[in-house]
Amino acid sequence: MAQHVEDRHGRENLSLSGRPVGTDCPFCRIVEGTAPARVLREWVDALAIVPRGGGVTAGHVLVLPKTHVPDIAADPSVSAATMRCTAELAAEVGDCNVITSRGAAATQTVPHLHVHLVPRTRGDGILLPWTAEDGGGRPGRGRRPWTARPLNPGASGPPR
Ligand SMILES: [Zn+2]
Repeated sequence: MAQHVEDRHGRENLSLSGRPVGTDCPFCRIVEGTAPARVLREWVDALAIVPRGGGVTAGHVLVLPKTHVPDIAADPSVSAATMRCTAELAAEVGDCNVITSRGAAATQTVPHLHVHLVPRTRGDGILLPWTAEDGGGRPGRGRRPWTARPLNPGASGPPR
């Protein structure tokens, strides 16, 4: 059962998990203002903060929704709003990586959606850890967890 709580501005937040927002989530505590963070920008629905430890490059930020959402797949509307805010920042920094993770196997460490914006410069030495030792990234290797579907399954053949 979902519960309604108010954030630090008195607005009502809905916890999708049914627990009060922020009881055990470090990012909810930041949103509530009960945990420290360097907030770089605030939108109605999201915050941009400096990662603990300062990040991997100068300008590395985390963009997180003010509503507790465990990951990118939990609530597409919240994810889209968070990505909109990230895109605004990306337009200001130039070359960058925009990365979010879902689940422990994908290296997600805080179960509250967050998007890393990592400004990049040529030769900065930051390597993405996406090399597959067993060739899983090559065509024909590995298994895709989804099946491609037509966008309009009722349509067949070219338009008339
Ligand atoms: Zn949270």
